[in-house]
Amino acid sequence: MKKLENYSEDIYKCSKCGICLAACPVYEETGNEATLSRGFFTLLHGALNNKIPLKKLAKYLDYCTTCKACFDFCPSGISAEEIILAARSYFYEHGDISAIKKSIVKAFNSNMILKGLGFSAFIYRALQGPFWFDQLGGLSSQFNLISNIVNSQTQEYIKYKKLSPVGDKKEINAVYFPGCINNYFNASVKNATVMVCEKNGIDLDISPNFACCGIPARGIGDMQSFISLAKHNIGQIDLEQIDYLITDCATCGMVWDIYPEYLEGEYKEKALLLAQKNMNIYKFLVQFDIFLPDNVEDNKIVTYHDPCHLKRSQKVDKEPRKFLSLLPGIKFEEMKNADRCCGASGLYFLSKPGISQSISKRKAENILNTKANIVTTSCPSCKIGLSQGLSLCNRKMPVYQPVELLANIYFNKMN
Ligand code: SF4
Ligand code: SF4
Repeated sequence: MKKLENYSEDIYKCSKCGICLAACPVYEETGNEATLSRGFFTLLHGALNNKIPLKKLAKYLDYCTTCKACFDFCPSGISAEEIILAARSYFYEHGDISAIKKSIVKAFNSNMILKGLGFSAFIYRALQGPFWFDQLGGLSSQFNLISNIVNSQTQEYIKYKKLSPVGDKKEINAVYFPGCINNYFNASVKNATVMVCEKNGIDLDISPNFACCGIPARGIGDMQSFISLAKHNIGQIDLEQIDYLITDCATCGMVWDIYPEYLEGEYKEKALLLAQKNMNIYKFLVQFDIFLPDNVEDNKIVTYHDPCHLKRSQKVDKEPRKFLSLLPGIKFEEMKNADRCCGASGLYFLSKPGISQSISKRKAENILNTKANIVTTSCPSCKIGLSQGLSLCNRKMPVYQPVELLANIYFNKMN
């Protein structure tokens, strides 16, 4: 990744056409150009040409959700995400990132802290915390919002059960990178992924030492931590023994694709090889004739939200829909603007709660218009955005990953 000072040429390419105004979910809420690519580039242009102090830009750094929607439309091909991240890295290096943000990110950088947090989530579940917190949610709308967000991350919908495979085992060496939420906080999606693969004759290899992919560190500009997590994770994989690197979290999947950009030498070579093997779970599963039980007496309407990091970064959007359309007892309904940002975007829902909530509410209105009774997505952070939006519309709805739905079907057919 280039240093901020080296982006002059890129931002100079901005023709000020204003197409990004229509694409940006943040601008839709703020109406303030400084919170969108075009305005930020203008300010940065001024700062890089010593017309305004660079420090003055600090307050605009956090507005961008890094959803990449503007990049899709920008005729000059400028990546706001890349430039914003370079700016955050500059401010991080100059000590201008808040201590709270640094401590939250520190937690993601340490497997020990994550394990501790995961243990708290386990106790919370054991004490029926999700149920009681949900009851308390009736006290006020604010309480309801917090309880929905907490429960979206802590409720364990799928518990692991060993399922016997249908048909022969497949000769596939697949490494599964579950990501830190799956690994340490709530194993529901990981359980579902492993169960669905096992049922279809695919054993997943999971290193017990995988750490966070590093995206929270990168998000605040702490590139050193990001690089050290990248090296750590790459070091856990035997490159001789891998056909696929599977991810179910949109962000983790994107990160394996971008590791090579941040590394050099031997690590870069390894990262390039792994980026070629990297595949999202739905893209992986739909290439097989997956087992689908008969006689599923269910009548669910399901819609799907595209995580920005899956659709825009990995170009995976048809496969989760195809997967959902295969599931028995499920009718798929497309929502309007399914690929519009959900508003959560990592820590964005904490740093810019007002804007985040407005974006999430628009998303929830589109979900509700489908008349779906389940909303699905492929990212733990999006689960927050969707739950947040639904709360703000005074509605509750399960928010799952598509793979959790199939694991549940298998599980019910087994009992
Ligand atoms: S990346 Fe998304 S939030 Fe950021 S400026 Fe572009 S459209 Fe707006
Ligand atoms: S779409 Fe691209 S070129 Fe046009 S104003 Fe936005 S950033 Fe500039």
